[in-house]
Parts: sequence; C-alpha cells; structure tokens
Amino acid sequence: MTPNANTRVAAVIGDPVRHSLSPRLHNAGFAALGLDWCYVAYPVADGQAEQAVEAMRTLGIEGLSVTMPHKKSVAAAVDDLSATAARLGAVNCVTRAGDRLIGENTDGVGFVNSLHSQLQIDPNGLTMVIVGAGGAARSIALAMTDHGGRACILNRTARSAEELVEIVGGESSVVQEDAIREADLVVNATPLGMNNDDPLPFDVDLLKKGQSVIDLVYQPKKTALLVEAEARGLKTLNGVPMLLHQAGEQFRLWTGHEPPLGAMAEAVGLTL
Ligand code: NAP
Repeated sequence: MTPNANTRVAAVIGDPVRHSLSPRLHNAGFAALGLDWCYVAYPVADGQAEQAVEAMRTLGIEGLSVTMPHKKSVAAAVDDLSATAARLGAVNCVTRAGDRLIGENTDGVGFVNSLHSQLQIDPNGLTMVIVGAGGAARSIALAMTDHGGRACILNRTARSAEELVEIVGGESSVVQEDAIREADLVVNATPLGMNNDDPLPFDVDLLKKGQSVIDLVYQPKKTALLVEAEARGLKTLNGVPMLLHQAGEQFRLWTGHEPPLGAMAEAVGLTL
C-alpha cells in the first residue's frame, strides 16, 4: 500500500541502523495483512535517545524498535516498563497506550520462540551456556530461566557475568569454559563472528555430540562457529530466527494482529 495521509508509522532507531533487516521484516508483515502501516529506519546518535522518544510522542509514531546503543537510555525515557524490560533495564520496543509510552523487551521471547520453531526445543530442564554477558545475553538468560532452564554465563569480563546472574537469579551461574562440555545448548551472544578474521568465541573442541549450537550473529548467516559445529554433526541455528520472532512480538504489540511470520521470514530469506 502506498503511504498516504493516514498511514501509521513504525520505526527503528539505532546507530548504526542502515544495515537493519527490521524494515524488511515489518513492511512484509504489513503488506501480507493489507495494513496501512509503514516502517522506516532512523539513525539516532548515541546520547540522543531521549529526544527520539520525545519525537515519537510529537509525531505520533505508533511503534518504535530500539537497537544499539539506545536500549538502556530508552528504558529511562518512556513512561512505563513491562516487567521484563524493568528487570533487564533495557527496552527494544516501545508501544503506545493512549498518551503513555510503554517500554517492552521482546528479545527473550524471540529467542525461545526461535528454539521452538526451528529446533523443536523446549528450554525447560535444559542447561545453556551463554558466551557473553551484554544486552542479548541478559535477555536470553532471563527467558531461559523463566522457562525452567539453567543459564550458565561465560564472559570475558567476570564482573559483567556476575551482574547478569544477580539480575536473572534462579539457577543461573557464572561458569568457566569447560562447562561447555556439560551443556545441552551453547549460545554465542558476543559479536565475534561478524567479521571474517574474528577468533572463535570459545574452544570448539569442548563441544560434544547431541548439543545444539546457536549463534545470535545474523550477518553473516553462517559464522565460523556454525561451520565448526556442523562439521561435528551438531544442530545449529543462526541469529535470523530470533530476529524474526522478536520482530513478530513487536508486530503483535503494535497492531494487535497475529504476525504473518511466513511472509516476514520470506522477506529475509528464512524458511520456517
Ligand atoms: P553487547 O551488549 O555489546 O555485549 C557484547 C558481549 O560480548 C559482552 O559480554 C562482551 O564482553 C562480549 N564481547 C565483545 N567483544 C568480545 C571479544 N572480542 N571477545 C570476547 N567477548 C567479547 O552486545 P549485545 O547487544 O548483547 O549483542 C551481542 C551479539 O548478539 C551481537 O552480535 C548482536 O548483533 C547479536 N544480537 C542478535 C539478536 C538477534 O535477534 N539475532 C538480538 C540482539 C543481539 P565484555 O563484557 O567483556 O565486554
């Protein structure tokens, strides 16, 4: 549908943001349902998140996706936070409730839904080693714990791993690299793998049969870690399904419609 005077606008803010796949995902979803909505990307520099949230109010933007480096600043700028966003102190999605702006975080549910849909895995009772302790690691550790799993955090900086465990609680813990041997799922939640010359995020010789290896990196689609895991006969998943499912939850929150995941997946070359 061609944008017109009644078109409702959603957007992503971030820096950088021109590489984002979110416009493709959401615009495919709007088109599939014939909704008079459009989704655009706004580069917003570090330190300008509060102004971007104010602009959302002024311009009547219906929904906002939030990516690096603004997830924490937006949590401080909205009127209310969902329980998950409040625990994480990070927002990846803003919705409107009348005049009030509500901060949500859909990364964790996106991750769990991607496990269900692509690997037929239910986290309940499973142990997952998460490499990294940043925003993405926090979201998936909390979701894993809330779904009855155990999150084990392996990070370069011990203090960040300890802070994550304090937030998530449950059976989560800080671990060393050899914990990978005992895991059901191993997740790379660092940016390692985005560049060709990056080192592997952990010693892949610790992997063993029966495990699943998930890389949250989605560009490239097959990182060196996933190549190594496949060579060992393990189940693998890249970051695209999590990206799709977290977007699907945002779509649902903004429009009230069930997200057309098949059309959205197709727009980013993913088969469900
Ligand atoms: P972040 O908050 O900046 O956290 C990065 C984490 O990686 C930190 O724990 C950091 O360790 C660690 N790290 C960074 N460089 C490292 C290196 N050279 N060696 C070892 N550890 C390193 O980033 P994020 O937002 O969590 O994102 C992490 C990754 O997940 C990115 O690749 C991002 O694109 C991806 N992601 C994917 C999705 C999806 O939907 N698929 C969603 C969100 C994020 P320190 O604590 O020691 O600094």
